[in-house]
Amino acid sequence: MPPVDESDKVLPVDTNIFRHDLLVWYDKNRRILPWRAGRDKKPDPYHVWLSEIMLQQTIVVTVIPYFQKFVEKWATVQDLAAASQDDVLAAWAGLGYYARARNLHKCAGLIVTKYQGRFPEEQSVLKQLPGIGDYTSAAIASIAFDKPAIVIDGNVERVISRYFSLVTPLPISKPQIRKYATLLSEGRADRPGDCAQAMMDLGATVCTPQAPKCNLCPLEEKCLSRCKGIQTDLPYKIKKGKKPQKYCFIYWIKNNKGQVLLEKRKEKGLFGGMMALPCSGHFDEREKIEQDENFFMLDFSNSKPLIINHSFTHFDLEARGQFAAMDDDTEIDRARFLWVEEAALSNIGLPGLFKKFINALYHGTII
Ligand code: SF4
Repeated sequence: MPPVDESDKVLPVDTNIFRHDLLVWYDKNRRILPWRAGRDKKPDPYHVWLSEIMLQQTIVVTVIPYFQKFVEKWATVQDLAAASQDDVLAAWAGLGYYARARNLHKCAGLIVTKYQGRFPEEQSVLKQLPGIGDYTSAAIASIAFDKPAIVIDGNVERVISRYFSLVTPLPISKPQIRKYATLLSEGRADRPGDCAQAMMDLGATVCTPQAPKCNLCPLEEKCLSRCKGIQTDLPYKIKKGKKPQKYCFIYWIKNNKGQVLLEKRKEKGLFGGMMALPCSGHFDEREKIEQDENFFMLDFSNSKPLIINHSFTHFDLEARGQFAAMDDDTEIDRARFLWVEEAALSNIGLPGLFKKFINALYHGTII
């Protein structure tokens, strides 16, 4: 069990020197990212907001092509607000956590109708918008509007934990980290947005999780964990338990015209509002799906043995393919189900689980 520092003590730090060293490093080493403004240019709040929503739970390399696709399709927040939710969800497909896409679209609508297309600058106002919580509101206020908000992501947590050698494990140490982040931003007169991005970039490129490159770090001299030689051990983390395992069927139903049955998911819940292959509920035991299975009373006895595994934040899923034919004049709920040409499936924004299923079906490989 990692140690816990129960003292309330906050170590002193010369914040001016810290920020100066950090900004000098940032000016030479900042990451070039498609949503970032060039040096000495004003950031576009639409780009900052869009990227920050996409970056919630998703890494930078995955977000870049999605960000580029979105700004090509919808160059402004007005364009995004005017799009249909279905189009936004389809463009988001594969990025996961689909509530983010629904909130993104709602938020764009509010920015246009309530704020005349201009993003609010204050963190407290931003936080009232759909999909924008503590972290995202701080990041937008700071990066887009240069407000002195406290921005703490995983990278910043790691840099602070190491610099101050915080031995209390995450997430217990979060309040302590916030105290230090607040201390570091106190009295910050200039470039708060760059300071926030500098901390993120330092964590992403130098103070990396496995092998921090301390010899390239502007904070090396005063970094306490580096002095103690324990930097790679920090931050300690409380081990998460194993995720629950769930089981479901994915139905691959074709009609006599070679079309495939798709389902529009309910607005709430997993893949809310997305187009998907029909699937059963998720069960804790494999046998239970079989007992439950009565999808259109179809005969699945000739199903191919296709099983894929997919990991969600809160559970792991084993999905088994169920294959059957169905007459295209079978009565179906047209608001919920539709027949789609098989060749058109790749143009429909299906969630990653179903893309993985189709890929395994066609190529016998898992993506
Ligand atoms: S000196 Fe090393 S451990 Fe300390 S902040 Fe820099 S990269 Fe991280």
